[in-house]
Amino acid sequence: MIVVMKKGATQEQVDHVVQRVDELGLKSHVIVGTERTVVAAIGEKREHMKESLAVVSGVDEIVPILAPYKVASREVKPDPTEVVVGDMRVGAGSVGVMAGPCSVESEAQILSTAQAVREAGATALRGGAFKPRTSPYSFQGLKEEGLKLMAAARDQTGLAIVTEVMATDEVDLVARYADVLQVGARNMQNYRLLEAVGNTDCPVLLKRGPSATIDELLLAAEYILNEGNPNVMLCERGIRTFESHTRFTLPLATVTYLHQKTHLPVVIDPSHGTGHSVLVPDMAAAAVAIGADGLIIEVHPDPERALSDGYQSLNFAQFQATMEKCRRIADAVGKKM
Ligand code: PEP
Ligand code: MN
Repeated sequence: MIVVMKKGATQEQVDHVVQRVDELGLKSHVIVGTERTVVAAIGEKREHMKESLAVVSGVDEIVPILAPYKVASREVKPDPTEVVVGDMRVGAGSVGVMAGPCSVESEAQILSTAQAVREAGATALRGGAFKPRTSPYSFQGLKEEGLKLMAAARDQTGLAIVTEVMATDEVDLVARYADVLQVGARNMQNYRLLEAVGNTDCPVLLKRGPSATIDELLLAAEYILNEGNPNVMLCERGIRTFESHTRFTLPLATVTYLHQKTHLPVVIDPSHGTGHSVLVPDMAAAAVAIGADGLIIEVHPDPERALSDGYQSLNFAQFQATMEKCRRIADAVGKKM
């Protein structure tokens, strides 16, 4: 349930509500809104809890949370969440752009890409060091060496780095290098991993599983939020359908739907969402037009020779042109990019 504080409630009154919520065996999340503060009280509801909180001084009303996800819900926090990482802003009117190769392959590859995407206006560098590959015989990533190369690229360009973490026992290692932890589509419902990233201070990019419903995506985000990490970005990266012309089917309606249900920012991945570099620029532009809070785009100096996902990667010139197009659209829809 949501404990809605009166306008002008004091900090002592909010602290007291938090103490009462904790005493009742519920988990409290304080959300300071532009209008007023609310305390979300999450956990199993028992008799008289509502009544005993309703009489606490400074409390205006107690409202049930109808959605199955709680902290992620717009009912709890009507104002959009802005995730800020270095120079990157994602959400609440800003469009963040994470660009870079599918996999970190070499020093020259990652440094040249970082430079190129920064010049084109990207605000973060993406690149996989631990790669979840469909086949065990495919390139699995440079692992810690890849993380070091990403960190070197950050030192050279100032770009925040976004990289995937695949396993709970690798969270500490990856978080030591990364500015944003990516939880990949295949791990969206790895609940121990979600809890582990929820226990870091690192913002998380949570990708939708290709067969997950939107409610399942939001409940996966809830695992991270419930551990106390508020900086979660949701990523639509396409779902599996009967259609075989594209690698996945990229539903842009997800953006609008999620904006109605959650305050969390929504990022679109037109690279995995389509699987064809020729489709990426228009889908990126369409995502910005529909109100996406961020883009994550695969860019490679020589897509033909990429060790993973070259067929969906843009070269530098294509990325630059895509950015110019997206910026014009962002301007037209009143977003900062
Ligand atoms: C990736 O971003 O390179 C990746 C593996 O994405 P996904 O988890 O969406 O397949
Ligand atoms: Mn990829």
